[in-house]
Formats: sequence, C-alpha cells, structure tokens
Amino acid sequence: MIYREIGKTGCQASIIGLGCEHLDGKPYEQVKETIDAALEQGINILDVFMPGREIRENIAKALGSRRNQVMIQGHIGSVDIRRQYDISRDLTVVKQYFEDLLRIFGYIDFGMMFFIDSESDYKGVFETGFADYVQQLREKGDIRHIGFSSHNPEMAMRVIETGIPEMLLFSINLAFDLYPAETYTLDQLDKGLDATAFRGLDPKRSALYKYCEQKGVGITVMKTLGAGKLISLEHTPFSKPMRVAQCIHYALTRPAVASVLLGCKTGAEVLDVVRYLDMSDAERDYTPVLGTLRNDFRGNCVYCSHCQPCPVEIDIATVNKYLDIARLDEANIPPSIRSHYAGLANSGRDCIGCGNCESRCPFGVHIIDNMAAAAKLFG
Ligand code: SF4
Ligand code: SF4
Repeated sequence: MIYREIGKTGCQASIIGLGCEHLDGKPYEQVKETIDAALEQGINILDVFMPGREIRENIAKALGSRRNQVMIQGHIGSVDIRRQYDISRDLTVVKQYFEDLLRIFGYIDFGMMFFIDSESDYKGVFETGFADYVQQLREKGDIRHIGFSSHNPEMAMRVIETGIPEMLLFSINLAFDLYPAETYTLDQLDKGLDATAFRGLDPKRSALYKYCEQKGVGITVMKTLGAGKLISLEHTPFSKPMRVAQCIHYALTRPAVASVLLGCKTGAEVLDVVRYLDMSDAERDYTPVLGTLRNDFRGNCVYCSHCQPCPVEIDIATVNKYLDIARLDEANIPPSIRSHYAGLANSGRDCIGCGNCESRCPFGVHIIDNMAAAAKLFG
C-alpha cells in the first residue's frame, strides 16, 4: 500500500480507502470479511456516512481492537429519518445521530459536515449553530479534524474559503470533470452521463483541486467510478468503458487528492481494487480516453505521465502540478508547495531540453518551457 498525507492534517491515508456504503444491509459475516480484507491490504481509511445503527455497529464490531488502526470519516448531518438516507441541519437531530456514531467508535478522525452542495446547504451549516457545533466537537477531541463533503465545485470553494475545513470529500471522475462547473453532476448520474454536454476539463473544477493543494486542504474521493457507469459497457459516456485502474489513477493524479474511497462489499472486491497498486503505467493510463474527446485542454497538463520516461528522471507531471499551483499566486507560493518541490529528486532545473517528452505528450504541453518556468519560480 502507498500512503499520502491528507492536506496538513498529519494523517497518512492509504491511497485506496474503503467506502462502506455497500456494506449497509449486509450480514455481519460479510461486513467482517470485507473489513478484514481491507485491513490486510493496508487500507486505513473508511468512510462511514451511513446513519443506520446496525451497519455502524457491525463495522465497529468487525474492527474490534483494531479501531485505532483505521481513520474513520464520519458524517455530521447524515440521518435516516423514515428509514431513508437523508440530510438534516436540525441540531437536535444532527447531534442525536452523530453522538451515536461517537458512542460506537469512541472518536471520529474526520468529522465531515455532510453534503454541502447548494446555497441552502451552505446556510444550513454556516448560518445556524451547525458549524459551531462541529468546531466544539473538535475542541473536545471527539473529532480529530473537520472536513466536509460536496459534489459542487463552486460551493466547495466557498466552504474552503471559510477556513474551517481541513479536508474535503469530493466526487471526482473524468466524466464529472468534463461537465461545466454549473452542471450538477449527481443529477447527470441519475439521468445518464451525456457526452454531448462535455466541454473539456472544466477550469473551475481543476481550480478547486489546485486551490485545495495550495491551502493544504486534502481531498478524499467519492464517485471514482461514477457509480459504476464509467466502467459499464451499457452506461459509459465514452467510446468504451474505462478500466477501474484508469478511474483510480485519474482521481489520484488530481492535485490535493490523498485517497480514493471505493465501495466494496466483499473481500474479493477489495482485492480487485487494490490490484491497481501492482499495475503497470500502461494499464493505468487514461489518456486514450481523453484522446477520444473534444480536445479543449490542449496545452494544459492533465498530470497523466504519458510523457515519461524522462532521461534525467524528472517527474514531469508532478513538476507541472506544483507549477500550476504556484501560478495561482506567484507572489505567495505556499511553503508546503515549495518544500514538496524542493523534495523532488529531480526537478525543472535538471531538464536538458531533449524534447522526448513533448513528442509523447498527447496534449501539446510546452514541457521544456514549463521546466524552465518551474526552475525560475521555485529557485
Ligand atoms: S505533460 Fe502531457 S503527457 Fe506529461 S503529464 Fe502533462 S499532459 Fe500528461
Ligand atoms: S525535455 Fe526535459 S523534461 Fe522532457 S524528457 Fe527531456 S529532460 Fe525530461
């Protein structure tokens, strides 16, 4: 397993995590088998948004004395009134459900303000006592870090600007990133992903990921496979289904992303998703899918690493990523980005201008210029 730090939290998360939603309603033995497989594979982050007591207790029982080996993303405002998943901003109800989660798991690593997608979600969290309650939870140590979940890049940006959250659970996949930011992707998922509405990689979505990296807000990812539609022959919006490894790799190569949470309901499914770790660059490569689309992203790096290998072993995608983030505000490059860049074994100044990479880049990125720009900006 590979681990990445979630923003500035100091928490190292496995790059593949477990979304536990699909375990809801399953017998305890199946929950246990799946959790055991996940832990054996080094997975150390679990998303538990489900409000039902039985599934929460089954997960806690399956973990047993291993509770401290995992980090739990628990959601504040996730309820199941009338036995259906629902959202509440009513503090009495919110507290009842979240305190039940605390009782079951003892503490929650990432207390996630649940589902902030719309103006009314925003007001329900920040213009009531909801956000104050969440901050009190952290002060008391009931939650270790504050996060939130969203499917709307503009709203997510606004929430991050409050300075309260340290992390974000966001829906990221190639199809969603091709929709304009104004398109509500969850509706698209329900209707069926429509490629005629794609407009090239959306600048607001990519700005969100870069902004998160700049601010040290880590991202964990949901809807990596677009609820299975991206890998389905019947439902894919592309000329052919993507592979699971391509979907994972796409999400993991966005700035600020620490972990991709995949919904597994058996141990075999866990083993299947962690196969990503052993796959070759060619098996993970998602550029063939991008190449079939309207090419509105020419000249912009999509961090795919198709340009490798570099004879002087520069990680070109990573240099480009840090350069893009630095360019958001050249006068105020975050120290964390400077130090990440300085930590690269080889960087922009090592480029010998051979041009091998540029001939391999499908998106016409001026890599040699970028390496020189990075060397100049980062010194
Ligand atoms: S420079 Fe081109 S090939 Fe290399 S990572 Fe960026 S988009 Fe991919
Ligand atoms: S031009 Fe620079 S970055 Fe590209 S392959 Fe050659 S040395 Fe590496």
